[in-house]
Amino acid sequence: MNKIPRRKFIQLSAAAATGAVVLSGRHAVAEDLPKLAEDDPMAQAMKYVHDAGTVDAASRPNPAAEQNCANCALIQGEDGAEWRPCQIFPGKLVAANGWCSVWAPKG
Ligand code: SF4
Repeated sequence: MNKIPRRKFIQLSAAAATGAVVLSGRHAVAEDLPKLAEDDPMAQAMKYVHDAGTVDAASRPNPAAEQNCANCALIQGEDGAEWRPCQIFPGKLVAANGWCSVWAPKG
């Protein structure tokens, strides 16, 4: 290996390592957030529950066939994760199978 490719290799390795740290750090932030409690005052104000199946569909302001956090426009984070951030409850995680009265259909 001559000097130039070796230096380039080291630069690329450093950049890759930095990117990995940034990505893993961002991932860790979402995972480290506390789960929203159903008795949290904000959760109660929005009628949040961990299990959307416990909500009477007729009582929902927008009675679509299936409503849960995983198919809500306000969910964040990665598809398939059991607990995910939500725009309505910053700093907390909501259950993918949860529900609250702010539910909105995705685009
Ligand atoms: Fe779930 Fe949507 Fe309510 Fe957030 S706004 S808690 S994702 S239903």
